[in-house]
Amino acid sequence: MNMKLDPWGSVNIDDYSKLFDEFGIMPFEDICAELSDPHRYMRRKMIFGHRSYDLIKDAMKNKEPFSVMSGFMPTGGGHLGHKMVMEEIIWHQKMGADAFVGIADREAYSVRGISWDKCRQIGIEDYIVSLIALGFEPDGHIYFQSESENVKDLAFELSAKANFSELSAIYGFSGETNVAHMVSAITQSADILQPQLSEYGGPKPTVIPVGADQDPHMRLTRGLAHKMNMFRIEGREDKNKNKFFSVRSKAAPEGSLAEIAERLPWDTKLFEGHIDIYGADDYNKLLETVREVEIENGGYAFVPPSSTYHRFMSGLQGGKMSSSVPESLISLKEDPKLAAKKVKRAKTGGRVSLEEQKKLGGEADKCSVYELLMFHLVENDNELAEIYDECVCGKRMCGTCKALASELMEEFLTDHQEKRELAKDRLDDYGL
Ligand code: SF4
Repeated sequence: MNMKLDPWGSVNIDDYSKLFDEFGIMPFEDICAELSDPHRYMRRKMIFGHRSYDLIKDAMKNKEPFSVMSGFMPTGGGHLGHKMVMEEIIWHQKMGADAFVGIADREAYSVRGISWDKCRQIGIEDYIVSLIALGFEPDGHIYFQSESENVKDLAFELSAKANFSELSAIYGFSGETNVAHMVSAITQSADILQPQLSEYGGPKPTVIPVGADQDPHMRLTRGLAHKMNMFRIEGREDKNKNKFFSVRSKAAPEGSLAEIAERLPWDTKLFEGHIDIYGADDYNKLLETVREVEIENGGYAFVPPSSTYHRFMSGLQGGKMSSSVPESLISLKEDPKLAAKKVKRAKTGGRVSLEEQKKLGGEADKCSVYELLMFHLVENDNELAEIYDECVCGKRMCGTCKALASELMEEFLTDHQEKRELAKDRLDDYGL
C-alpha cells in the first residue's frame, strides 16, 4: 500500500530490484541523497541503480576530473527515450564532466546493415542536432566510431583480451554471428574507455548513463579495463592479523614493481611478481603511484567505468515503446500538433467510468500520460506530487491530465524544433 503512494513509481522500480541481487547493481537512492543538485531523473528514481557512482559523486564534490560518455546507434528516429540519455549526458557536462558522445555507426553497419552514408545522415539529423538543441556544449566531444582512430586502435587492443566464449556468454553470439558484430561489441568498450586515454588527461572516473538492458556492455568493459591494467592492488592480512597491501602484476615490464617500491614512503618487500607494503596510511597515494608507474611504462591504468541505470518509459498505448510501432512513441522531429493528438489517445490508468474513478481513484502508476508528465513535462516536484495525489484519491479526471500533457508536449516539441534549426547552423562548432 505504501509503495502505491509513491509519486515516483516505486512499484515499477521494485521489478528492477532483481538486477541488484543478480548483477550487483547498487540502488541509486542512497547516493542521490548526497548529491547537491540531483537531476529530476535521479530525484524521481527513474535512475534507480548504479555501479561505482561514488567515484563520480566524489569527483563532482572535489572538483576533480571525470567524464561522461554514451552513444547512439543511428538506426533512425531519435525519440523521448533517447532524450533521457541526452539529458543525463548534458547534466553531467554541466556538473563539470568532460563529455563524450559516440555515434555507433560501426554497430549500425554490422548489426542492421545500414550504409555508412545513411549512418552519417541519421547520426547528425536524428541524434546530434537534438543533443545540441537540448544544451550539449561545444567543449564536449561528438564523434563517429568509424572516424575515430583512437576508438578503432583501442578496440583492436581490447580484442586481444576478449575471446569468443566470453562474448557469446554475454551477448548470445553463435557460430552464425558475423565477425563485424563481434568487433562492434568490442568497439563499444573502446568508446567507454576512450575518455581515459592520455590525450584526454589519462585515467579518471567515467560514468556511462544507460538503460537497464545495457548492463552486459558495462560488465564486459569493466572486465576488460581490469585485464588491460598491468597491476592489481589487494588488501591483505598476515598470520599475526597485521593488515598490508600487495601490488601484483602478471605482465608488467621488468623493473616496474621495483620502481613502485622505490617511490612509496612506506615499508615495502619486493618479491617476484608482487610487492608487499606495510604501514600504508594513504590508499589514494598508493593508487596514484601505481597508476603513474603504469602509464610511464606504456600502460593505461584504466579506472573501471561507472554507470547509472534508468527505467524505460512505457509505450503510449501501454506495453513497450517500440520504433516499429509509431503510435507507441513520440519522435523528437514529430509534428507538435500530431504529437499532442497522440497524447490525447494515450492509455491512462483511469477507471471504466467517472463514477468509479471518483470512488476508487486513478492508477497513476499504470498511466502513460502520468509517465510523460513525470519523465519529461513537469519539472516541479511538488506540482507533480499534487497531480499524483489528486489522481489516486479520485479528485482528478483523465481529461484534465491529457489536456495538460498534450499542451505541454506541443510546447516542448515546438521549442525543441526551433532550437534544432539553430543547432543545424552550429555543427561547425562541434567539429562536424
Ligand atoms: Fe493518469 Fe491523470 Fe488519469 Fe490519473 S487522472 S490515471 S494520472 S491521466
